[in-house]
Parts: sequence; C-alpha cells; structure tokens
Amino acid sequence: MKLDARDETLATDRTKRPHAVVIGSGFGGLAAAIRLGARGYRVTVLEKLDAPGGRAYVYRQDGFVFDAGPTIITAPFLFEELWQLCGKALSDDIDLRPVAPFYRIHFHDGTTFDYSGDANAMRAEVARLAPRDVAGYERFMQVSEAIFKVGFVQLGHVPFSKWSDMARVLPDLLRLFGYRTVYGLVSRFVRDERLRCILSFHPLLIGGNPFKTTSIYCLIAFLERRWGVHFVMGGTGRLIERMVGLIQGQGGTVRLDAEVRQITLCGRRATGVLLADGQTIAADIVISNADSAHTYRHLLPASVRRRWSNRRLERADYSMGLFVWYFGTRKTYPDIAHHTLLLGPRYRGLLKDIFEAKRLAADFSLYLHRPTATDPSLAPPGCDGFYVLSPVPHLGAGIDWNARAEAYRAAIEAALEETLLPDLKNQLVTSRIMTPADFHDRLNAYQGAAFSLAPVLLQSAWFRPHNMSEDIEHLYLVGAGTHPGAGVPGVLCSAKVLDAVVPDAITFQ
Ligand SMILES: Cc1cc2nc3c(=O)[nH]c(=O)nc-3n(C[C@H](O)[C@H](O)[C@H](O)COP(=O)(O)OP(=O)(O)OC[C@H]3O[C@@H](n4cnc5c(N)ncnc54)[C@H](O)[C@@H]3O)c2cc1C
Repeated sequence: MKLDARDETLATDRTKRPHAVVIGSGFGGLAAAIRLGARGYRVTVLEKLDAPGGRAYVYRQDGFVFDAGPTIITAPFLFEELWQLCGKALSDDIDLRPVAPFYRIHFHDGTTFDYSGDANAMRAEVARLAPRDVAGYERFMQVSEAIFKVGFVQLGHVPFSKWSDMARVLPDLLRLFGYRTVYGLVSRFVRDERLRCILSFHPLLIGGNPFKTTSIYCLIAFLERRWGVHFVMGGTGRLIERMVGLIQGQGGTVRLDAEVRQITLCGRRATGVLLADGQTIAADIVISNADSAHTYRHLLPASVRRRWSNRRLERADYSMGLFVWYFGTRKTYPDIAHHTLLLGPRYRGLLKDIFEAKRLAADFSLYLHRPTATDPSLAPPGCDGFYVLSPVPHLGAGIDWNARAEAYRAAIEAALEETLLPDLKNQLVTSRIMTPADFHDRLNAYQGAAFSLAPVLLQSAWFRPHNMSEDIEHLYLVGAGTHPGAGVPGVLCSAKVLDAVVPDAITFQ
C-alpha cells in the first residue's frame, strides 16, 4: 500500500517541510510520526510487513479477528494527546471500554482472585486470600503511587541522553527502592506467596522477570488503578488503523512492504534509508522504531558505532520469548473472564527455567485472552475467539521451534481443557501459532525476544539505547528497545521523548 505518490527520494519537498523517515509502524513509530507531523515535518513511515502495527498486527482468519499482541490498554491519556495534536478527540474514532475485573487469577490450588481497580473490592479480595496482609497491601499501593509519580510522571517522557540526566534522578530512584526487584519490594509488604505473585507478575506483561526487574515497574499497579484497564471495541487493531488515519490526515505517508536495509550516512550523520528493493529515500531525520538491536546490528555498519557494538548488544540481557496460540471455538465459554491468568504449580522455579536456565519447562503459567467477552463481533455468532500466551525462553536457548511447536501447543490445549475450557479439542474451529522464531523472522526482533531488552536497572533510562542515537547524528529511536521501554504506554512515551530531542522543523528550512 503506497498511499501518497509524492517523490520521497527528495529530503525537502516543494512545501519546504523537512522530511522525517520512520522505520517501522509499531505503536512507537506511529506515535512518533503523529508527533513529528504535528511539529511540521513531512513524514514517511516505512513498514516491512503487509500491514501496520508490528506487535499489534491483526490476523483475520475464518471469520475471527485476532489481535496478535497488545490488548490491555492502561494509559488512554497518552492516546488522547495524539488525537489532540490532530485537533480531534480520541472518542471521535475509538470506543474504549473498561474491563472488570482487570484480571481473574486462577492458582494451581484452585484459589481464584479477581484483580480490579476498585479499592474496596481489592481490599476484600486480599482479606479473603491473606487476611494478615491487608495493611501491607495498602502500604504497597501507597509506594506504587509514589514510584508512579517519579518513574512515570517525571521520568517516563524525558530524555536520558547524558549521564547527568541519570545522576539527577538517582537520589529519587534510591529513595524509592529502584535498586530492589519488583518481587523484592512486594515481599517487604506482604507475606502470602500467592499475594506476592499477584502483586509482582506485572513485569511479565513487558517481558521482565519479577525477580530481576527493577522495582520502578511497581508503578504499574497504581497506573492501572488510577486509569483502569481498557479494551478497544473492534480490537487493538482499530487503534493502529486510526493512527494511520491521523498520519494521512496530516499529509504523511505510510508505506507497507517497504523493508529498510540500511540507514544511509554522510560521515556520522543519517541522510536517509536504502530499501530492500534498492530504492533510496532521502531524509533530514531518521527515526527507527525497529528493534534497537536490529537497528544497530543490521541497519548501520559496525565501523560507525562506538557505543552499540555487536559485542555490547550480544552481551545484553533480552526479555523472554512468547509462545502464542490464537484459536476460535464453535461455542462460547461465558464464564471465562476477558483476561485470565492460569498459574502453574511453580512461580520462582518456572521463571528461573525461562530466564536463567533457558529451558522449555514441561509446566507453564498462561495468560488467556478472551476478547469476545467484551466484543462478540470479533468472532462469528455463537463462537469465542481466544489467544493464550506462554512465556518461554528467547532464541538464545536454542530451542528448535519448528520441531517442538505443535507438541507444545497440544500440551497447552490439554491444560486448558482440563481447567478452564472443557471439551476444547472438539470445539476448535480455527488455530494459528506464533513462536519466538516468528518474532525474529517477521518483526526483526533480536533473539526473538517479545519485548526487546529486559527491563533491569542497568538497562533502564541512560543505560538503554538512547532516544537520540549516541552513535549517529539525526538518528532517533523509539519503541520497546529504547527509553523508557516495552508496553504500549512505554513506547508511546518513547515517542513523546522526541519532542525534547528532535529539533524544530524550522531548523532545517
Ligand atoms: C503477544 C503480546 C502481547 C502484548 N500485550 C500487551 C498488552 O496487553 N498491553 C501492553 O501495553 N503491551 C503489550 N505488549 C507489549 C507491546 O505490544 C509492545 O511493547 C509494543 O507494541 C511494541 O511497540 P514498538 O513501538 O516497539 O514496535 P513493534 O510493535 O515492535 O513494531 C516494530 C515494527 O518495525 C518493523 N520493522 C522492523 N524492522 C524493519 C525494517 N528493517 N524495515 C521496516 N520495518 C521494520 C516491524 O515489522 C514492526 O512492524 C504485548 C506484546 C506481545 C508480543
């Protein structure tokens, strides 16, 4: 799809607007395009795949609509800002519905817990599960709010280009226990192991091991309570579709099937891109929304990279992989909540297998998504659409997914049939899977990691690949592999950081 016939080989067009090329159409890339469009840049987004969205790609199959990735929308105000930049309201284009409970958690021992944003309901659930931990839980939520005020409000959208930016925030991070892990901080407040699990699982939603992820990510508990967990009617893909619409409305272009092979340079300055089909496109600035490791390893020669050498990128710590099974059933399962966590017998041990031993364990903990609980139009009448995620090691584990995927899927199917979805095997009408190998091959994700670099302290803020490239002038990075990190709110904030580091369009005129 080429939506604009202008000659993009010229950096500055007849209107004299400087040209910004964005590599990749994930949430980070589209948000960056909208922000730059609003600041007067002429924007061209180049996407390798045949549809926009990246992790938020949409599969349509046998009458079912499957969002490939994100479905939990937690910070709608970040989308509001983008729509406002285009003179519109989010509600003009998007119907967001609150989801309650946020998550229904099923423990291996049969206990369930409804995790919601309602403070009284949560207190009652905690009292039911672990009466002695109610006071500790309340204190944890206060700390979560304090961390949110620093980690999200003050730091989430500011650049960490200089070491002094980091030094400035260190006292706050130390005061708020940033050196602890999420699980470590939670354990200071509550003693019940099940409750520790409930309050510490959030890093898994952005690819981190709760036993290693910096406790800054405890802010998610407060973020969810304050703004809720939402679902987009029509699916997350609708947000992507409408963001593309905003870019077009600004006069920008989104080109599909347009893989970038190289960022072109004049010395150490980015001058545009070379596409896989041999076309070159000149640009005043280049923004890469491709995985940061892919950007540095494959789009730039080693000779121009001082900080992000192959060695440094190879030695970095990457997030886990995901095994995703999308499926539809000929009947509905009305008792299944929109978001369900089905926890296996092991928590710490399973995470060790995934993140440290890098072993594909025989047991698993699953996240089950049933979007048709909120929007039945995503499946044919009388049917249910699902996906189930199992965190697995990334490709560094050497697992041959071609050989093991079907057996692994069948094991998940059996586990679901035994617990939440009786008779599942006979009810299946459509099915597809995605493994870490697909994340690598389709999305150019280094190591097939589902969430790029892991969110550990020494890979956060200044330590992460910067939003304004340390190695190349006029090159900027957005998305999960740069600051602040993975998750839809994180990558939308990465685009917001550009407002501080990208020069005004007028500079180029
Ligand atoms: C299964 C799953 C479920 C998730 N659920 C949630 C959730 O519920 N809520 C939440 O907040 N987060 C969730 N996340 C995390 C969130 O989806 C991601 O962190 C976020 O969407 C990543 O956005 P991004 O901007 O980094 O771009 P990506 O989505 O990674 O997109 C990058 C794009 O760049 C393109 N590209 C790469 N290389 C090139 C090239 N050389 N030339 C041209 N194009 C290129 C790719 O094709 C891709 O389209 C989930 C992730 C996964 C995988």
